[in-house]
Amino acid sequence: MNVLVINSGSSSLKYHLYNMEKEEVLAKGRVERIGMDSSILTHEVDHEPEMREVSEILDHTTAIKKVLDMLTHRQYGVLTNINDIQAVGHRVVHGGESFSESVLIDQSVKLEIRKLFDLAPLHNPAHMMGIMAVEINLPDVPQAVVFDTAFHQTMPPKSYLYAIPTVLYRKHKIRRYGFHGTSYDYVSKRTAEFLERPMNKLKLIICHIGNGASCAAILEGKSYDTSMGMTPLEGLMMGTRSGDLDPAIVPYTINKEDLTLNEVNSMLNKHSGLLAVSGISSDMREIVEAMNDGNEAAKLAFEMYAYRIRKYIGAYVAAMDGVDAIVFTAGVGENSAQLRKEVCQGLTFFGVELDEERNEVRSSEPRRITTKGSKLSVLVVPTNEELLIARDTYQLVLNQPAAVESISNE
Ligand code: AMP
Repeated sequence: MNVLVINSGSSSLKYHLYNMEKEEVLAKGRVERIGMDSSILTHEVDHEPEMREVSEILDHTTAIKKVLDMLTHRQYGVLTNINDIQAVGHRVVHGGESFSESVLIDQSVKLEIRKLFDLAPLHNPAHMMGIMAVEINLPDVPQAVVFDTAFHQTMPPKSYLYAIPTVLYRKHKIRRYGFHGTSYDYVSKRTAEFLERPMNKLKLIICHIGNGASCAAILEGKSYDTSMGMTPLEGLMMGTRSGDLDPAIVPYTINKEDLTLNEVNSMLNKHSGLLAVSGISSDMREIVEAMNDGNEAAKLAFEMYAYRIRKYIGAYVAAMDGVDAIVFTAGVGENSAQLRKEVCQGLTFFGVELDEERNEVRSSEPRRITTKGSKLSVLVVPTNEELLIARDTYQLVLNQPAAVESISNE
């Protein structure tokens, strides 16, 4: 079965085409600048040079049409016919309390996703545009949605409730949801395989440190707590997001700087974090480079970033009354040996002994970065959110009643 995975944003769209029998990526790419002139489609097939096409793509329906044309292109394509796509899986950021697992799309699912627009105004409407665009281009192909929040629906109330009047939870669903769930789901399973231990016997702390960053305490295979909250602003310091701060700063800043609520919101989401403290960049590569060149502001930004990760790790050891492994994943977590070293330096009390050589190794495979004698293991486990979306979609389509019937009739 071939599964097309779509991650649809408001002006961009990423795609991965998987052959599920081999779990192999046949082609991948992205469309950027949707709705603007000179939109760019970038398409990549294994071992071939990346191919770029500039054209006018005014909406998501045209973007999906262009992707399908490319996938079936005589020279650059990998399929003879669009009917060779048997299912489509979408990433959806917010599933609220309605979805605790991936589901096939029907009218009621679309309605629920629409109801959640308020909770994720930047993401869910854009995902819906992707879903509708696929529906128009591939009307007979089943579609599934995989939610970033679903994995965290196992959190107990003491983790997910804010200590504010409960009427706000009852009326407006103001609570912590957590994000990066697709990544935590994938990485926790991969970690259990690597450790050759059953998931339901493990206490894991996973640090998904990318452009957005969060930590999660995963107890016996289930999310027990995570650092992001009602929105992805809470928790760790990130590239451009502040992470945790005293909420009283919001009205205080509004008064002192004569700002509007929207301006403060934008400041906390887009102009804070590494970017604000370093004054240089939101990209960890540039921060590390500047720090190593002696830039003091970059050094402070780096230290604050690592210190906050370490504090969450400490909190989650206490939350789960122990931990079997700490895992780093995502762009920074997988690639920055220096950041991992800075975080681990403060974890000696828990028995972490970093192996400096192993920490420097680059690999796309899971690996241990602590010494043989280290009481507590620290691992790097590369994430693969697209593969998890493809797997969930594949399973949902295989298990839908019509598919079972047609298999049993063969
Ligand atoms: P992600 O959101 O998981 O795609 O992560 C993207 C982020 O990873 C980028 O913004 C970079 O800051 C970071 N990154 C990628 N490669 C490196 C590297 N070699 N060292 C430090 N950070 C990196």
